[in-house]
Amino acid sequence: MEQHTLSTSHVDCVVVGGGPGGAVLALLLARQGVRVLLLEAHQDFARDFRGDTVHPSTLELLDDLGLYEKLLELPHVAFADFPTHFPDGTISARTQRSVSSKHPRVMAVPQAQFIEMLVCEARRYPNFELRFGARAEELIEADGTIQGIRYRSADGWHDVRATLVVGADGRFSKIRQLAGMELVGEPEPFDVLWLRLPRFDTDHERAHGIYLGSDDFLAIQVRDEEWQVGYVFARGDYQRVRAEGLDALRQSIVRLAPFLADRVDRLQSWQQTSLLQVHVGRVERWFRPGLLLIGDAAHVMSPVGGVGINYAIQDAIVASNLIGPRLLDGKLRTHHLECVQRRRELPTRVMQALQRKMRPQVGVGEVASEPPLIAKLMFGLPLLGQVPARLIAFGGLWPAKVQPRPWYAQVGSALLGFLEQMGRNMVPMWGPMPIWRRD
Ligand SMILES: Cc1cc2nc3c(=O)[nH]c(=O)nc-3n(C[C@H](O)[C@H](O)[C@H](O)COP(=O)(O)OP(=O)(O)OC[C@H]3O[C@@H](n4cnc5c(N)ncnc54)[C@H](O)[C@@H]3O)c2cc1C
Repeated sequence: MEQHTLSTSHVDCVVVGGGPGGAVLALLLARQGVRVLLLEAHQDFARDFRGDTVHPSTLELLDDLGLYEKLLELPHVAFADFPTHFPDGTISARTQRSVSSKHPRVMAVPQAQFIEMLVCEARRYPNFELRFGARAEELIEADGTIQGIRYRSADGWHDVRATLVVGADGRFSKIRQLAGMELVGEPEPFDVLWLRLPRFDTDHERAHGIYLGSDDFLAIQVRDEEWQVGYVFARGDYQRVRAEGLDALRQSIVRLAPFLADRVDRLQSWQQTSLLQVHVGRVERWFRPGLLLIGDAAHVMSPVGGVGINYAIQDAIVASNLIGPRLLDGKLRTHHLECVQRRRELPTRVMQALQRKMRPQVGVGEVASEPPLIAKLMFGLPLLGQVPARLIAFGGLWPAKVQPRPWYAQVGSALLGFLEQMGRNMVPMWGPMPIWRRD
């Protein structure tokens, strides 16, 4: 295939993937004064069927960045637990314990608006740039070191040269594949069929949660004005579910969660559903010279516990703390990338092992008589309860805290802000904007 490269840019770091991990990393690096380019394959951040849960550690991060109030301006719902609903209509007891944090509750915020807010903040720094519709397709490599990437957009091919390429491009990571880094793992014994149904003000305040059945169950979470419903069944059963038809699916939903009977007919087509084949795995080495993987690209998590976003963001905070200063002083070495993996691998391994332990039992032909292990581990045992709770809420036992910006980055951005203001005021006299101004 003939490729004509239209342009070449040079940055300190190119982050591939505008999911939660990539957006947080790009923002934190930009705050430090690193020249960072964020590439997103899609034209916006809107995605169907994504996690919307923002955990305590991320709320603390937003607080540290002065963005917590902005988050509260977005549509959100805060909740303290994920109840279990039994077939006889009873609901597990309300959770009494919570993790010790200034923000102990989990919030559901539409992911697209959450990322939009992060990127809006990053745009305040002139050393940050976001390109939508930019699909990374090739790595630029010389002497065993990754030196940049080549991406395709509507107007053709572009090269980006960078000291560091970060692959934050999710569970089917192209960067991981291009770098020859193999995801080691295995499929889980269940699949999830996602769909959405309307949420009414009259619905019970604890209507979200797990609805137990004998061969299947539902996981229902809040998504803005709707319920995001996950119909969980044994792996490989999808063809059977499809063959039985939409009416049978609607009946299964109502059997498990009768309160949805008055709206289940909104489900009119299989196109309103999305199949998630659950897989848990991670790459052995998260880095190569000039390249780092974070988030789902480095470790695919199971949906159990809803931790994927949290783990991706914790990776981003650790990476920004460790590599940001080295990118600035030009002393980034491969062992700094290895340090990121060392800090994040253990919590990831522990969480994945816990997710396997907590995995739902489906296709066993009987209804569980008590809440699943996840609920017992998180909320039942007095001492142990804090450990999984903190693993879920913080992506590890101790949340990574974002490091304060170095003084020279603060002075630098204050100066740039001043010049930008001057530029704005002087437009009529000077004509075109100075080239570093970005709207
Ligand atoms: C249906 C569903 C429900 C979920 N529910 C929850 C939940 O409730 N809570 C939770 O914490 N987690 C949940 N998860 C998991 C969570 O969404 C992921 O773990 C999390 O989004 C990972 O973040 P990330 O930044 O690593 O990658 P992603 O969020 O996957 O972002 C990757 C980004 O990279 C972009 N991209 C891909 N390839 C390229 C390329 N070649 N060039 C440029 N850009 C590219 C993609 O468009 C995407 O925007 C859910 C996942 C699914 C599928």
